[in-house]
Amino acid sequence: MGDSQWEKRIPSAQELRGGFENADDILSRIIGPDSSIGSDLLHDTLLAKSVNSRRMKRSDSTRVVSVTNQKGGVGKTTTTVNVATSFAAEGVPVLVIDLDPQANTSSSLGARQRGRGIYEVMTGQLEMEEAVRKSPLFPSLDVVPSSIDLSAIELEMAGEAKREAILKKRLFSYLERSGKKYEYVFIDCAPSLGLLVLNALTSSQEVLIPVQVEYYALEGLSQLLKTIDLVRLNFNPGLKGVMMILNMVDKRTLLSRKICQAVKEAYPSMVLSSSIPRLVRVAEAAAAGESLTSFDPASPAAVAYRQACLEIAERM
Ligand code: ATP
Ligand code: MG
Repeated sequence: MGDSQWEKRIPSAQELRGGFENADDILSRIIGPDSSIGSDLLHDTLLAKSVNSRRMKRSDSTRVVSVTNQKGGVGKTTTTVNVATSFAAEGVPVLVIDLDPQANTSSSLGARQRGRGIYEVMTGQLEMEEAVRKSPLFPSLDVVPSSIDLSAIELEMAGEAKREAILKKRLFSYLERSGKKYEYVFIDCAPSLGLLVLNALTSSQEVLIPVQVEYYALEGLSQLLKTIDLVRLNFNPGLKGVMMILNMVDKRTLLSRKICQAVKEAYPSMVLSSSIPRLVRVAEAAAAGESLTSFDPASPAAVAYRQACLEIAERM
């Protein structure tokens, strides 16, 4: 829904004089519809109501989505954790594979465990079902954790045949054997374009690229898209969908608005119309080792992630 449609729903001064009916009216009266704080608050309240009341479209097959960007610190882990938990909060069955030796996703989802994770699965020491853990956050959320051991795997796999398809083989035989009907498998990638990321892309039908809204936002995106094309041509013709999600957006600054515009103009069909604001609450939830959905479900960032999920669910 565009900004103008939201603006239309903000009550006029005349409407506000008619009497209080609910919390929104009271809020408008106290702060005043003409103050920017007042209209921001009202906008957030109305947006939250609309986003939280919409039904999530369900998927009848498993969508495997790599969350990737070779740039560091753009929000891959934050996106994986919050998108996965927004779906799981609706009861959607989701599997998250942490493919980053930093293991931040495993920590945020309460599933950190050394010795029984994706490293052991990819080196053949464990079957994937032996490494899958239930996240304590939501009953429909499973996690295959990572650990620092994974940092050595690129060298260890270097001599293996079909080394780009190790994860795909393990994941798909697990899905087949277990009969689990995950609607989404999200793979959080490390900031590189190495063999682990190649394994993630070879396993996926879709890619979700978090783009940090900063001066150098576009830098590196064309190289990443070229890599995705190469993977599609050489290893995985099923890698079809590319989505970008704008992260750390500050709508109050002109620079932020211009950068969002530039990314949308460069990749119009890929960029989700929902974007994630830069909010300290996002970092606080990560520091507390939680998802926003469990930490502060009413925060505008949690609402933004739910809105992004509604949009992702409508794609494909
Ligand atoms: P890496 O490349 O190291 O894996 P990453 O791409 O996974 O990093 P994150 O770890 O998700 O990036 O985010 C980097 C930092 O930015 C974290 O401290 C996170 O809490 C913070 N952050 C991410 N998104 C937001 C946001 N929308 N608002 C505020 N802080 C954010
Ligand atoms: Mg990360």
